Amino acid sequence: MDLAVIPIADPETVAKYEPVIGLEVHCQLKTKTKIFSPSSHEFGNPANTQTDPVVLGLPGALPVLNREAVEQGVRASLAIHCKINRRSVFARKNYFYPDLPKGYQISQYDEPLAEHGWLDVDLEDGSTKRIGITRLHLEEDAGKTIHDGFRDSDQYSYVDLNRAGAPLAEIVSEPDMRSSEEAFAYLTEIKQALQFAGVSDCDMEKGQLRCDANVSVRLKGEEKFGVKAEIKNVNSFRFVKMAIEYEIARQVAVLESGALVVQETRLFNNTTGETSSMRSKEEAHDYRYFPEPDLPPLLVSEEWERSIADSMPELPRNKRERLVSEYGVSDYDARVLALSAETADYFETVAKASGDAKMAANWVQGELAGALNAAGKTITESPISAESLARLLKLLGDGTLSSKLAKEVFAKMFESGKSADEIIEAEGLKQISDTGALESIIDGILAANPKQVETYRGGKVGILGFFVGQVMKQTKGQANPQVVNELLTKKLAG
Ligand code: ADP
Ligand code: MG
Repeated sequence: MDLAVIPIADPETVAKYEPVIGLEVHCQLKTKTKIFSPSSHEFGNPANTQTDPVVLGLPGALPVLNREAVEQGVRASLAIHCKINRRSVFARKNYFYPDLPKGYQISQYDEPLAEHGWLDVDLEDGSTKRIGITRLHLEEDAGKTIHDGFRDSDQYSYVDLNRAGAPLAEIVSEPDMRSSEEAFAYLTEIKQALQFAGVSDCDMEKGQLRCDANVSVRLKGEEKFGVKAEIKNVNSFRFVKMAIEYEIARQVAVLESGALVVQETRLFNNTTGETSSMRSKEEAHDYRYFPEPDLPPLLVSEEWERSIADSMPELPRNKRERLVSEYGVSDYDARVLALSAETADYFETVAKASGDAKMAANWVQGELAGALNAAGKTITESPISAESLARLLKLLGDGTLSSKLAKEVFAKMFESGKSADEIIEAEGLKQISDTGALESIIDGILAANPKQVETYRGGKVGILGFFVGQVMKQTKGQANPQVVNELLTKKLAG
C-alpha cells in the first residue's frame, strides 16, 4: 500500500496509542575559535571567510583540540547532571557531502565525553517529570550548502564553510517523553540550562540550537517500543511540537491501516505542518566509525572537572527553588524572575536592599518589565539600577510616597535615569502624611461643605468619598489616603 495516501489518524484513534519520544539536541558552543583549528565561527560573516587548512581538509593539515571547547562541553554536561568520563575518544564518522571537505566528521562514538544525566521538566498540570539523558558528546559542525538565491541556483548549489568545524555538543535523551508537550518542556529546560551554564546563547535562528526528534507509537499498555522515525532539523520549539504531533497521527494511521511504520529519516515542512520521508535510516555501520588517529584520547582529570564545576553559576532550577525558600516569593514569581540570571540577580539586589521581597518581585515583574519591554531594552540596560529601585520601594514602604506617586516617580526615573530622591525633591512629589498639615486642609473643607457634613452625620457615610476627593484635589493627589481617611472619620464623627 502507498503509505503516502493514508490520511492521518483522528484524535480519538490517536488516543488509543502512546507516543514515545527521544530528542537529539545539537548545541553550538560559543568558543572564540573552531573545535580543531584557529578560525573563528561567528555567525553572519561573508561566505568562506572563516576557513583554514584543517577545515578545508587540505592534505597534511592536522586537528588540534580546542581546550575552551572541552571546558564548555564539561560545563554543559554538568548543567544537565551528566557524569564526566575521565577518558573519551574522538572518532571519524565517514560520509561524503560537500559541506564537509574532509569526507568525515570528527565526533565521539562509543566513548563520549559525558553520560547518565537528567533534567527535571515542569508540565502544564503542575507536575514535574525527570527525563533521562543518555550522553553528551563533542563533535564538529558541518558547513552549509545553499540551494537557493543565486541566478544559477537551478544548476548549482553553493557551499559556505564558515560553520564547518564549529564546536557542537550533541545531547541525546533517553526515550522518556510521552507527549509533544513533554518534548517542548524538555527543550525549554535544556535551553535554559545551557544558557545559564554560559556555553551558548542557543539562538535557534542562528542555528546555535538544533533538534532532531525521534518518535514512535505503541498501543497503550504495550511494553515494547514501536519502530521510530527521526525528524530532522526542525528550527523552532513550536515546530518541534507540531512535527511530533503530526508524526504521531501519521504513524497511528499507518498502524491502523494494517501497515508497518518504517524506520526512516523524515523532514518537517513548516508551511504544511507535515513530515515527509527523506531517506531510509542509516545505521551506525554505514558510517564506518573508527577512532580518530590524529587526536589522542581526551583526558579530563578530576581536578580539571572540579575547577570547572567550581566556576559554574547556579542552575535555573536551583535558583528558582532558592528564590522561593530564601525570599518567600511564589513558585510562579520565582519562575518568571529566574528566566534569566540577570533578572534574578536584579531582583535579589532589590529584595535585599529594600527589605521587602514581595514588593520587589511585584515591581521587577510589573512596572520594570513593562517599561523595559516598551523601551525595547533588556534588564542589563535598565536606566534604573537595582539599588535605585530599592530606594523607591523604601519610600513607598514608609509612606513617603503613595503607590500612585511611586508609579509616577518610577516613570520619571526610567525616563531620566535620576534617583527617586532627586525627582521627589525637584517636583515636590512627596506624599503628605503630616497630620497637622492635613488637618487644617480637612477643617477648611468641612467648613465649606456644611450640607454634606450634615448628610454624613445623618447616616449616609458613603459620602466620605466626596470629602476624600476634595482633599486629594487640594493636595494634587499627594495626601496619604490612609491618613486622610482616618482624620476625616474622626472629625466627621463629631
Ligand atoms: P539510532 O541508533 O537509531 O541513532 P539511538 O538508540 O542512538 O538510535 O537513539 C537515538 C534517539 O532516539 C535517542 O534520543 C533515543 O532516546 C531515541 N529512541 C530510541 N528508540 C526510540 C523509540 N523506539 N521511539 C522513540 N525514540 C527512540
Ligand atoms: Mg544514535
